[in-house]
Amino acid sequence: MANLLGVFTAKNLLVLSLALNVSLIFRVLLLHDAQNGSFNGFFFTKHNGSQKEALFSPVSSSSSSSSSSLPISQGDRDRVINLDHGDPTMYESYWQRMGEETTVVIPGWQFMSYFSDATRLCWFLEPEFANQIVRLHNVVGNAVTEDRHIVVGTGSTQLYQAALYALSPDTDAEPISVVSAAPYYSSYPLITDCVKSGLYKWGGDALSFSKNGPYIELVTSPNNPDGFARRSVVNRSEGILIHDLAYYWPQYTPISSAANYDLMLFTASKSTGHAGMRIGWALVKDEDVARKMTKYIEINTIGVSKDSQLRAAKVLKVISDNSERPNADGSFFEFSYHVMAKRWKQLREAVHESGLFSVPEFPPQLCKFLNVVFEPQPAFAWVKCEGEIEDCESFLRGKKILTRSGKHFGVGPKYVRISMLDRDRNYETFVERLSTIRL
Ligand code: PMP
Repeated sequence: MANLLGVFTAKNLLVLSLALNVSLIFRVLLLHDAQNGSFNGFFFTKHNGSQKEALFSPVSSSSSSSSSSLPISQGDRDRVINLDHGDPTMYESYWQRMGEETTVVIPGWQFMSYFSDATRLCWFLEPEFANQIVRLHNVVGNAVTEDRHIVVGTGSTQLYQAALYALSPDTDAEPISVVSAAPYYSSYPLITDCVKSGLYKWGGDALSFSKNGPYIELVTSPNNPDGFARRSVVNRSEGILIHDLAYYWPQYTPISSAANYDLMLFTASKSTGHAGMRIGWALVKDEDVARKMTKYIEINTIGVSKDSQLRAAKVLKVISDNSERPNADGSFFEFSYHVMAKRWKQLREAVHESGLFSVPEFPPQLCKFLNVVFEPQPAFAWVKCEGEIEDCESFLRGKKILTRSGKHFGVGPKYVRISMLDRDRNYETFVERLSTIRL
């Protein structure tokens, strides 16, 4: 050792000691961040002690694990499980099994133009994607596509904004109120008021909306966060409706009839699980509204990625092909239906065992697509902390389960929304932990 030390000069030792100190400081900072809920700078930031809300806050803690269903280890017992956002990673294992069937190869010289079909109303909509949208809705029977214009968007998030732009009155009057019955999807108020538009303004809970004049009502069915089927609640003559049908698919709810509304929004994120493609579509009855939505997307992003639309077309095609094959055991909706059924059964058992929580009960109905009677099995669990627990989100955070508080959905903190769409391993660790929670 003395010999070894002799090899270094005093300068070498000073540099080495500096390097060690810097690395120690980084480690302490990282640990501090993790304890405050801020990983890699992506998670929520805290301002004056209150949590600043983010539309979407990816964290690395639980979402990075693989989809294998390994037995729950000691490490799993202690780690943070993040079920705050509805990242649909549970579908990965199905698409992995499909292998090359959904692989898309795009040569560098193809799809370089801004245009897809300049003769169409929505000139940036890829014709093959449009065909596959119509085909899938016809196969599943969940929406009427005849006499509808299709507008493609960068996720249904962009289409929601395009719809607000298109539906707002073209006058100098004050901004039109946008309402939705609580509990409503937590992103609606954030998106609506994001740029403080002069055209429209978030008006809050539709159930208590009493202002006279025109308004836009968002009807989300099945609803995010609570999973119930919904209809409009304000029902006044000057109301304009947007139907967000992101979850009207057979893995979540029985398909009883084809939805037939003026403006319907769908997304690949929750239907096929390809949230990363950022693809949504709107089925629009009125030509002028469809034209204005298209204009908004033209001004906003000059269209929608062709690469993503082609990938989406392929994914939708595989789902329709597999659904149409008689007795197909590779059907996407059979797979996803069974995963959701298993998860809801596990959740209800865990809630029962713990005795501290409750979840909604749903009436069973016939699904005309799957031809089975079942209770809705939503993409999110709307969990209530019973008894003395007033702040359910903090209570579960204390158990290292991250959820989204009811207050973001226009309801109180006794409720939380929990994603049911994470990978098997995270979900199983979650239900096991939930079942053992006692006061
Ligand atoms: N509407 C609802 C009701 C949703 O839950 C979501 C996704 N959480 C969206 C719209 C947004 O979907 P996209 O990923 O297509 O923007």
